[in-house]
Amino acid sequence: MSPKNQKVRVEFRKNRLERTRVKDWTQQYKDHGFEQEAPVLEERISGKGELVRRRTVIAAEVEPSQTEDLGFAALPACDTTTCQKGRVLRVHGLVSFVENEQGDIYQCTTRRVLRTMTTDQRHVVVTGDHVLFRPVPHHKRLEGAIERIEPRTGAISRRSKNRKQLIVTNVDQILIITSAAEPVLKPNLIDRFLVSAERSGIKPIICINKIDLVDPATLQPIIGVYSQIGYKVIPLSATTGFGIGRLRRVVQDRESVVCGQSGVGKSSLLNVLDPALNLRIGEISLENQKGKHTTTTAELLKLSFGGYVIDTPGIREFALWDIIPEEVLAFYPELVPYENQCRFPDCTHSFESDCAVKNAAADGRIDMRRYESYLSLSGRN
Ligand code: GDP
Ligand code: ZN
Repeated sequence: MSPKNQKVRVEFRKNRLERTRVKDWTQQYKDHGFEQEAPVLEERISGKGELVRRRTVIAAEVEPSQTEDLGFAALPACDTTTCQKGRVLRVHGLVSFVENEQGDIYQCTTRRVLRTMTTDQRHVVVTGDHVLFRPVPHHKRLEGAIERIEPRTGAISRRSKNRKQLIVTNVDQILIITSAAEPVLKPNLIDRFLVSAERSGIKPIICINKIDLVDPATLQPIIGVYSQIGYKVIPLSATTGFGIGRLRRVVQDRESVVCGQSGVGKSSLLNVLDPALNLRIGEISLENQKGKHTTTTAELLKLSFGGYVIDTPGIREFALWDIIPEEVLAFYPELVPYENQCRFPDCTHSFESDCAVKNAAADGRIDMRRYESYLSLSGRN
């Protein structure tokens, strides 16, 4: 689906209208870094009046909802004959590591107009973004400038200093990793992750690791509950290799975010899933230990058999934030059909009489534990 293009007139930023002397280079560098583009000062402004002070760019129409959620005002123009398609693997401060379709990785800066157009500076370039970038000649390494960021789908965000910050975009699924034992299986925690995933608009997959530690029959009830709701549940053992083939088929050629409590076996699973990943994960934690790149965000790790995984400490236990009680029910798919059968339109499904949700739980049409976890997540008990 390609966005409809239209010509728009873009106002130059104020600083392009006048030939003022740039006063504070240090601050400018701090704010924007060095630009690949010609500095503002060299831009010629001839005497033709208003017209030349605008420029025409081709911008795609973006749905208002997209702009609100994901930080875009418009898509800027881009010369597709000199630009290449790429995927942002990770972002280090002002530099984005972009992989082109041939698998070459370019270190890219971001074109100024992009930063001007985004509604939130922090969303300028995010790991997972599909971009168009222009290669810039460099004698030692591959460099480029990001010219355009395509509209995003399925973003994971976190709250940082009271603002929403995107961590990774355009991913297909979230692997909710849990363990059958050590640590003990926590269905309410699974529900928390499920609600977060549902809210992010990303498909969750429940992985139960360490099944070698229990009698598999004991897991049947919980697997049954989630399967019936429509979630995929994969029993696994990183130790015995059980289920690894199935997991590999599920992640192949897709982009999967890994989350789950510490100690459930996320690293162990990734290592048996694709031994080639081992090295990369080690490298990243080493980098972090050295404190070299404290601003490192999420990273797309390439799977040798196709696809990517994202395993970032910050996402591993990605929490629910800003969720309002009235919102929670929508993320319990099996409760939704009962909601509008309640007697009171503003039913909280907790203490009210004639509550269809509560009745469904009472007579077993809804799993009682799921109902209770709904009450707990929506703060109703
Ligand atoms: P992470 O914190 O989620 O990355 O968990 P790790 O991969 O570091 O694993 C935590 C511990 O669980 C380690 O001691 C692993 O050896 C162990 N472990 C991981 N997977 C399994 C499994 O399938 N079965 C058993 N018995 N132990 C496992
Ligand atoms: Zn109700």
